[in-house]
Amino acid sequence: MPELADDPITLRNPADVREVVANYRPHTQEEVAQACERGAVAARRWGARQGPDRGAVLHQAAVLLEHRVEELARRITLEEGKILSDAAAEVRRAVAVLRFHAGEAERLGGEITDAAQASTLTWTRKRPLGVVGLITPWNFPIAIPAWKLAPAIASGNAVVVKPSSQAPGAVLGLAETLHEAGVPPDVLQVVIGGAQAAETIADHEQIRAVSFTGSNVVGQALSRRLSARGVRFQGELGGNNPLVVLADADVQGAAELACEGAFLAAGQKCTATRRVIVEKPVYGPLLEAMNERAGRMVVGNGLEQGVEVPPLISSRAVSEVLGAVEQATQLGARIISGGSRAEADLIHGNFVAPTLLTDVSAGMKVVDEEVFGPVCAIVPAADDVEAVRLANSVPYGLSASVCTTDLGRAFRFIECSDAGMVHVNRATPGADPHMPFGGLKASSASGYREQGHAGVRFFTEEQTVSVHWEVAEG
Ligand code: NAP
Repeated sequence: MPELADDPITLRNPADVREVVANYRPHTQEEVAQACERGAVAARRWGARQGPDRGAVLHQAAVLLEHRVEELARRITLEEGKILSDAAAEVRRAVAVLRFHAGEAERLGGEITDAAQASTLTWTRKRPLGVVGLITPWNFPIAIPAWKLAPAIASGNAVVVKPSSQAPGAVLGLAETLHEAGVPPDVLQVVIGGAQAAETIADHEQIRAVSFTGSNVVGQALSRRLSARGVRFQGELGGNNPLVVLADADVQGAAELACEGAFLAAGQKCTATRRVIVEKPVYGPLLEAMNERAGRMVVGNGLEQGVEVPPLISSRAVSEVLGAVEQATQLGARIISGGSRAEADLIHGNFVAPTLLTDVSAGMKVVDEEVFGPVCAIVPAADDVEAVRLANSVPYGLSASVCTTDLGRAFRFIECSDAGMVHVNRATPGADPHMPFGGLKASSASGYREQGHAGVRFFTEEQTVSVHWEVAEG
């Protein structure tokens, strides 16, 4: 499909918005609809191929993608802004995801058991759905598309992918690589566009399922739209993730984890630490240690060595984040560090200084909602019971961490936490590509998980087969 045309989407470098880094031509509604139709036809042939055959193609794609790490990482940094080494790690994660699902294609087995009737065997088999839509955000512009398309393709579906129009370059590179490895062009199609392209996919009669990652507002509207037509939906949405520091924790280590979770990637991770909940005896030392670390964090262009906090994706994001900080201060919050755009030599980029807030309360966006930037609230708790209550007190339930040296308290936290992913002595972000990923409560709009063995479930339907035979007498 064409990439450049007369009426392009123009992307500017988030680290210096004077620089245009890419132009893309959005696809028309008709072109998007045609992609869905071609996908439906292609899915029949692809789904009829043997699982190990599809797995071999994905394995080859992983090999080829490994050779493009540097090139695609640079593209990600220019379009999305993240630090080059993080971008390279993200491309390598996509490689790992392809590799894992190459194996999954060989393991698409079912359940086999004795039937209730004699001389009968019964088993289940997984069937692909057909053509599915994948709608992805800008903040992990290659890993998230990879962890959706790999299980979909491994299990025999065709996909129409709509990456965020704010950073689509990496997906185009990923698709080129998969095509080169042997995925037929109509089995994997990328469409460029915004809400209209996404809605055209969602409304297309051939689309059997839509897997979406993004904000709650968009995801919930999409969920309603699809459920009206009975189309399967997977939605991984936002978070307001707590890191709990108990009084027995290593305070310096906890401060490091808290700052890592809150400020790396400029807090633009769904699993970023938004609230640090601290048992009172270590509240003062923890606040001091976090303040010291936040003040030392290097904000800057992701292409430069030593930078830790990159720019936000857009100037609109900067306004939203600083608006939420201002709303909090108007309602009584205190800024401990940051709270404004970063220093003078960064005025041409979308930079916000790492921001620590105290004295926060319900009614503030930083407490009740997801503020997608480098902003973290520090909240005291009387004991671990109150800490868990505060941790669970938001509508979200994506990721949660506890820092403690007491195994009993760690396990109590695991049992009581309402998060889909729970960490002990680790930052709130971070996940293994071979383990399920997803939230609880408002962080997930479906019961399906992504990644790991759970990944293919969304993209398949199950058939139960029973075979009876007569045994000849004598
Ligand atoms: P977003 O604004 O909801 O966009 C997500 C995708 O939906 C983009 O491709 C976007 O296209 C598209 N879209 C926009 N309007 C739409 C509509 N009306 N109907 C259907 N699709 C539409 O989210 P974002 O700003 O890209 O990403 C940040 C959000 O994603 C945060 O809330 C973050 O927590 C969440 N996230 C969640 C996870 C997770 O696994 N739980 C992981 C990463 C991010 P355009 O961008 O082209 O407009």
